[in-house]
Amino acid sequence: MELGKARRAIQAAVSLAANSYVIGFLKGKIYRGSLKNLCVPGLNCYSCPGALFSCPLGGVQGVIGSRQYQLSLFFIGFFMAVGALCGRFVCGFLCPFGFLQELIHKIPSKKIRNFKGDMPLRYLKYAVLVLFVLLLPMFAVDAFGQGEAWFCKYICPAGTLEGGVILPLLNQGLRAAIGALYRWKVGILVALLLLSIAIYRPFCKYLCPLGAIYGLFNRVALLRYRVDQERCTQCGACQRACQMGVDITKGMHLSECIFCGDCRAACKAGAISFRAARGKKTGDAINFKRDAGI
Ligand code: SF4
Ligand code: SF4
Ligand code: SF4
Repeated sequence: MELGKARRAIQAAVSLAANSYVIGFLKGKIYRGSLKNLCVPGLNCYSCPGALFSCPLGGVQGVIGSRQYQLSLFFIGFFMAVGALCGRFVCGFLCPFGFLQELIHKIPSKKIRNFKGDMPLRYLKYAVLVLFVLLLPMFAVDAFGQGEAWFCKYICPAGTLEGGVILPLLNQGLRAAIGALYRWKVGILVALLLLSIAIYRPFCKYLCPLGAIYGLFNRVALLRYRVDQERCTQCGACQRACQMGVDITKGMHLSECIFCGDCRAACKAGAISFRAARGKKTGDAINFKRDAGI
């Protein structure tokens, strides 16, 4: 099976498996069993009625807000372990909300690949990470020293879709409690889903703090794409195939790479491979500086 099809099959299987608590959909209630102590690596809301596992971003805001430092260390270890192993491979293969945006992008329409300000806007997700995931939950606390999950509450479109749309549709009590905040969040969700028709993964590119975290590891992840500089003919086919704006041959914008493999499929010279970053094999990334984008 070609990589693109295999990837979509994996994305579909992971999305279904992460949200396979059928009773939750039938009763409009959240699963609260022991599996919820575990996190999926991608963005999948704790509050989806079908969710069997927790979301790492929701978890980390919860522990920062409640000052449970031991648990904070657990999340730091979780991000470091996943990131060091495979960076944003999670985004390309294991994240339900990334998958949803990709599916929507398949709707036939005029596509926008590049526009002025595209790359500077990518830094926005780091601001969202620092402000809404770290600082506000840590310092904007109530009289008891308790913070809130600011990213979940005010921004997260995956949470709105899974917990704020599906759950209220199934639960009458929740529908009655809907107010201005709900309308704000639905507005963000609808805007991002509409944007996804024309722009490939707009939430992943510009806003997602989880992608920002994993992207920091892309240059050093154990598993990553390597370019054999001896085979590369500098034809540019890989760059043209990349929908995330990465030039893998020059190591440019590597933190944006979601490991989708489109560049590898486009390379007629067979210069791109996905492998563990260790030692030299025949023609493996010999030019380390260039490969690492330093
Ligand atoms: S950037 Fe965020 S939403 Fe997009 S695929 Fe990665 S974790 Fe999922
Ligand atoms: S498609 Fe292959 S040969 Fe062409 S520039 Fe990219 S890596 Fe080099
Ligand atoms: S560089 Fe290759 S693997 Fe990375 S996002 Fe672009 S096409 Fe996908």
